[in-house]
Amino acid sequence: MRDPVSIPQSASPAAGEVQPPDTASLLAAATAAAAHAYAPYSGFRVGAAILLASGAVVTAANVENASYGLTLCAERAALVRAVAEHGPQLQITAVAIANLNHAASPPCGACRQVLAEFCSPQTRILFPLLSAHTGTVEPHNCSFGELFPFTFDLPPSRTPIAG
Ligand code: ZN
Repeated sequence: MRDPVSIPQSASPAAGEVQPPDTASLLAAATAAAAHAYAPYSGFRVGAAILLASGAVVTAANVENASYGLTLCAERAALVRAVAEHGPQLQITAVAIANLNHAASPPCGACRQVLAEFCSPQTRILFPLLSAHTGTVEPHNCSFGELFPFTFDLPPSRTPIAG
């Protein structure tokens, strides 16, 4: 297993202080992750890089399957890896998505709902988007609240779960 990509920080954040993400480094990490995509069916190679509140960055790529519906997007693969490596209390500061196909690739609906468990409305989301003005694919930077304003939520269970 690879170590998480380290993102240089210009200054140590004070306790509780939210640092703006280094968007260029995060997008570069997502692009590097896309090179590891398993995409023999679509050829669409996507990478995601998740910046945690701790400063750690976790990356992953999409993993396709011959049974197409079982394909896992890069965003969900990265989130599952983040929970496995950093535990269920993690908080996401930013998510960058990139692809090697020079195409628009905003997170799909399923990934938005899954990311909602660990994102705040202020979490930054970076992805390539087709510009209506120029007709070209350009980097887009928005908040998670803008990307997905109506999440499906359940209150946490009041019954302690063993384990
Ligand atoms: Zn997705």
